[in-house]
Amino acid sequence: MRCPFCGNENTRVIDTRAAEDGFAIKRRRECENCSKRFTTYERLDDRPLIVVKKDGSKQLFDKHKIYTGLLKACEKRPIAESKLLEIAEEIERELKNRLEQEVTSLEIGEMVMSRLKKLDEVAYVRFASVYRQFKDVNSFLEELKKLLNGGEN
Ligand SMILES: [Zn+2]
Repeated sequence: MRCPFCGNENTRVIDTRAAEDGFAIKRRRECENCSKRFTTYERLDDRPLIVVKKDGSKQLFDKHKIYTGLLKACEKRPIAESKLLEIAEEIERELKNRLEQEVTSLEIGEMVMSRLKKLDEVAYVRFASVYRQFKDVNSFLEELKKLLNGGEN
C-alpha cells in the first residue's frame, strides 16, 4: 500500500479493526519514509450478496444456482460445461463489483439471458420461457420469431 503523501511503497499497519458496517476492514497505516499516518478500507471478497426474489423473500447469492439453470437450458446443446461455469462466475464477479449488496432475481435473470442469447439461441429461448414465464403460447412464439428473424427486441 503506497503512502498517499510521499508515494513510498513501504507502509506499516499499526491498527486493524472492522469498519462500522462490519463488511470491511479498516487499517491505520504509517509510512516508513515520512511517518505520516493514513487509513485504508479493505472490502471483503466474500461480502455476502443478497438475492431478493419476486415474492420479496431474500436468500444468499449462490453461483451454483445460476450454473444449474444454465445446465438445464443447455441440455443436449453443443456447449462446454466449463463455458457455463465461466458465465456463472462472470455474473458473480460483476455483481460483487457493484456497490449494492442486494440484487433482484430479475436482474440476475436478465444477466443470464443476455449472455445465453449470444451463446446459443435455443438455450436462450428455453431459459427465457421458464424465466419469464410467458403468459401464453403467443408471447412465447413472438419471442421465438424475433430470434429466428435475427431481429433484436
Ligand atoms: Zn510517506
